[in-house]
Amino acid sequence: MFVDGRELESGTEVEADVCIVGAGFAGIALAMELMDSKLSVALLESGGFQESPKHEALLEGTFDGPHKNKNYLHTSRSRYFGGTSAKWLGICRPLDPIDFEHRPWVADSGWPFDHRELVPYYDRAAPVLGIRPFKVYDRDGQLAPSNFLAGREITRFVPKVLYRKKPIVRFGDKYRKQLKNAENTTVYLHANVVELETTPDGASIQSAIAKNFADRQIRFKARHFVLAAGAFDIVRLLLTSNRHHAEGLGNAHDQVGRRYMDHTRLPQTGLVMQTEGRPRRWHSTGSASVPGGFSYVMFSPTLEAQRQLQMLNCGVRLMPLDDDTEQDIDPGTLARDVGGLARGLDQTVTSGADPMPRTKIRFTTKLYNEHIPLAHSRVRLDTERDALGQLRLVVEWRSNRQMDRSVERTLELLAMELGRTSRGRLRLALTDPLYGPPSFLGSHPMGMTCMHPDPKKGVVDAECKVHGLENLFIAGSSVFPTGGFVNPTHTIVALALRIGESLRRRLESVP
Ligand SMILES: Cc1cc2nc3c(=O)[nH]c(=O)nc-3n(C[C@H](O)[C@H](O)[C@H](O)COP(=O)(O)OP(=O)(O)OC[C@H]3O[C@@H](n4cnc5c(N)ncnc54)[C@H](O)[C@@H]3O)c2cc1C
Repeated sequence: MFVDGRELESGTEVEADVCIVGAGFAGIALAMELMDSKLSVALLESGGFQESPKHEALLEGTFDGPHKNKNYLHTSRSRYFGGTSAKWLGICRPLDPIDFEHRPWVADSGWPFDHRELVPYYDRAAPVLGIRPFKVYDRDGQLAPSNFLAGREITRFVPKVLYRKKPIVRFGDKYRKQLKNAENTTVYLHANVVELETTPDGASIQSAIAKNFADRQIRFKARHFVLAAGAFDIVRLLLTSNRHHAEGLGNAHDQVGRRYMDHTRLPQTGLVMQTEGRPRRWHSTGSASVPGGFSYVMFSPTLEAQRQLQMLNCGVRLMPLDDDTEQDIDPGTLARDVGGLARGLDQTVTSGADPMPRTKIRFTTKLYNEHIPLAHSRVRLDTERDALGQLRLVVEWRSNRQMDRSVERTLELLAMELGRTSRGRLRLALTDPLYGPPSFLGSHPMGMTCMHPDPKKGVVDAECKVHGLENLFIAGSSVFPTGGFVNPTHTIVALALRIGESLRRRLESVP
C-alpha cells in the first residue's frame, strides 16, 4: 500500500517491525526480500512518484573535488520513489575477488569476509535487477572470439564482462505494483526522515522522525531500522541525529563520513595504434548485443600484476574509432612516440619502436580506476540548513599520488602488453591537452560508513549493523570498505538481500 505523508495528520505515529529509510535500489530490494515474511514493513521515501524542484533542492550541498563534478551532489542521485534507478545506466557486474582482500599496498583495504560470502546474494540479486546470474555473461563474454586483448599470449590483463540490460530497469516502475499490493508493506511517500531518535540510554533506535513540505511531522516506531537513503544522506542522518550521542550515531570514533570514494573515470588516456596486418576482427573490444541487453569487456591488470606493481584495481576499455575517425599516423611521429614511451620500459617494447608504415589509430583507452579509502577524503555537516531544517553536507574528495601512479602504471603495463604481443602500440595521452581531458568521478559514492569488525576503524560490522546500536542497519554503498572499479549497484542489492535475511533471522524467531 502507498500512503502520502502529506495527507496524514501532524503527530501521527506509525508502528512496524522494520522501518526502511529510502526507496531506491537498496530500500526497495530489501522491502521485496521481506515481502513474504511475517514482518510488517514501513518503507519511507522522501519524495513522491515524480521529480520535484523542492526535493531536488534538498540535494544541494558543497562539493570540493575535480572541477568537472561541480554539480556532483545533484547529478549523482535522485530524490523520489525508485531513487537513483531513475538516472542509472543499468551496468552491472559483481566486485572482483581481489576487491574483498586485504592488500598490503592499499591502506585500509579488506572486507570482513571474502567474495564467496556474497556469491549467493549476487545470484539472488540478479533477478531483482532483471538480469541473469552473472556467471552466464562472464562465460559468454570470455568465449567471445573478438576481444582485442584476449588470447593466450596476453598474460598481464584479464577481460571482465560488464552487462547492461535494455530497456534499463527503473525500480520505481518495476516494483510499484507489487509494493502497492503487498499485505505486509506500506510505502510512505513524502516522508523525509530528518532524525533518528534513540532510547535515553542511547543503545538502540526507537523512532524515525519524518517531515514533508506540507508541514506534517510523522513518527515511525519499529523494532529494527535500516538506512537505505543513499550514501550521502545516510551520513547526514547519522551525524544530525545527535540528541544522545553528541558526535552523531555510530560515530564514537570519528569514523562517520570518512573514506569517501568513487571511481575515477579517465575518458581518454591513450591512443592505440594497431599494428598493420592484424585481421579486422581484432578491432572489436568484445562489446556485443546479447539476449535482453548489451555486454562489453574491460581489461584489468591480473592479480599478480596488481600485487607486483602495487596497483589499484582498474578497468581499461578500448573504445573503437570507426572507419571515418580512424587516424593515419605519420610513421616518424609514431616512432618518436613509441620510442619515448619505451624509455625505461621493457625491452620488447623498445623493439616495437621499429618503423611501422601505414599505421592507424584504432582505439582510445578509457580507464575506470579504484580509489584508496583515505580518512581525509570525507563528508561533514555544513552550518546551513535545507528547507526541512536538516544541515547540508560538505563533501571533500581527496586523492593521493598513489592513485595517480596506479593509473600511469596500468597504462604502461598495457603499452608493454600491446608491444610484446605485437598487437599494436599505445600512445599515452594522460597529459596531452588534446586527448587527455581531466578525469571525473563516476556518480558512485562509496565508503563513509565502512564495514569493519573494529568500531575504531569502521561504522558497521560484517552484518551491516551499526556498531554500538542494537537495531540500526545500513544498506548501500556507504558500507563498502573498498569499491573496486566496477559499478556498485549489483553489490548494493546483494548486500540489501543479505540484510533482509539477517533481519528475518533476528525478528521472526522472536515473538
Ligand atoms: C547518471 C548515473 C548513472 C549510473 N549508472 C550506474 C550503472 O550503470 N550501474 C551501477 O551499478 N550504478 C550506477 N549508478 C549508481 C547507482 O545509481 C547507485 O549506486 C544507486 O542508485 C544507489 O542505490 P541506493 O539505494 O543506495 O540509493 P538511491 O538509489 O539514491 O536511493 C536512495 C533513496 O532514498 C531516498 N532518501 C534520501 N534521503 C532520505 C530521507 N532523509 N528520508 C527518506 N528518504 C530519503 C531518496 O529519495 C532515494 O529514493 C549511476 C548513477 C548515476 C547518477
